[in-house]
Amino acid sequence: MLEHIGQTESFSPSDLPFCQHIADLISASIEQALHREEHQAAQAIEEANRLKAELVSILAHEMRTPLTSIKGYSTALLMEEAVFSAETQREFLEIIDEECDVLQDLIHDLLESSIIDAGLLRLEPQPVRLPSLVRSVIEDTSHRAQGIRFLIDFPESFPILDADPDRIVQVFRNLLDNALKYSPQGGLVVVRGELRESEVVISVADQGIGIAPEHLNRLFDKFFRVKSGLGRHVVGSGLGLPIARNIVESHGGLIWAESQVGRGSTFYFTLPLRNRKQEMIEDEREQDD
Ligand code: ADP
Repeated sequence: MLEHIGQTESFSPSDLPFCQHIADLISASIEQALHREEHQAAQAIEEANRLKAELVSILAHEMRTPLTSIKGYSTALLMEEAVFSAETQREFLEIIDEECDVLQDLIHDLLESSIIDAGLLRLEPQPVRLPSLVRSVIEDTSHRAQGIRFLIDFPESFPILDADPDRIVQVFRNLLDNALKYSPQGGLVVVRGELRESEVVISVADQGIGIAPEHLNRLFDKFFRVKSGLGRHVVGSGLGLPIARNIVESHGGLIWAESQVGRGSTFYFTLPLRNRKQEMIEDEREQDD
């Protein structure tokens, strides 16, 4: 609505050209805004299509490696003309089993990522004791961790957190899987928990190949993968870290990485404390039990 400021009477016919001009300006800016919105919507659709195409091509490629292996070893075991010792047969079956795990992880990442994209990630927070949760994830992971050593370093009285344990397990799994994938034989992986004023900081440090500075802030982008430089193809979806970021951020935390090429990487994430006093009390009470 146009108003004549400071004058009681309304507009006169002589104001018409001015009003017309204002109306033109307003209509042009509305049109521009509509145009911008349409353009942004088209861009969003284009980006979604690009990601979808990328996803299909990456997964097709990444699934081919374990599948080829599974097919090769199972065909060999089924060959009537070949006789393998019990030991070799077991070795083949172990490879098949491991490659099935790789496929399972890829499919799991894919499903998780689509759940997140659809906005369906629902947290079910409950009291979580991080040190014991870390221990159990490491126990689960250790069969894949031949030749890697683990160190868990948490202060003695660590607060009980209000978090979704299944999702936090997922974050640890992704970080630990990466630490294993990119670590040398005999490497050490350290999981550390530190207590700050209003949050806890968790870190997972490895002595692996490291990450170049120009890649560090892209790690959490969907499908971003660095060519491993290990001289072998490392299977992965490029979805593990984006999923971890989403989970950590949904808890009100932050996630980031620090690294030096050839010297290892450390991934950090924070989780907020809801009520520090209450948590310490709960912790002490639990320890008394
Ligand atoms: P994926 O492991 O399936 O490729 P992620 O999203 O978990 O996907 O990781 C993205 C990329 O970040 C990896 O492909 C790898 O290049 C790099 N990366 C992640 N963790 C590490 C690590 N601990 N050491 C070296 N590089 C890493």
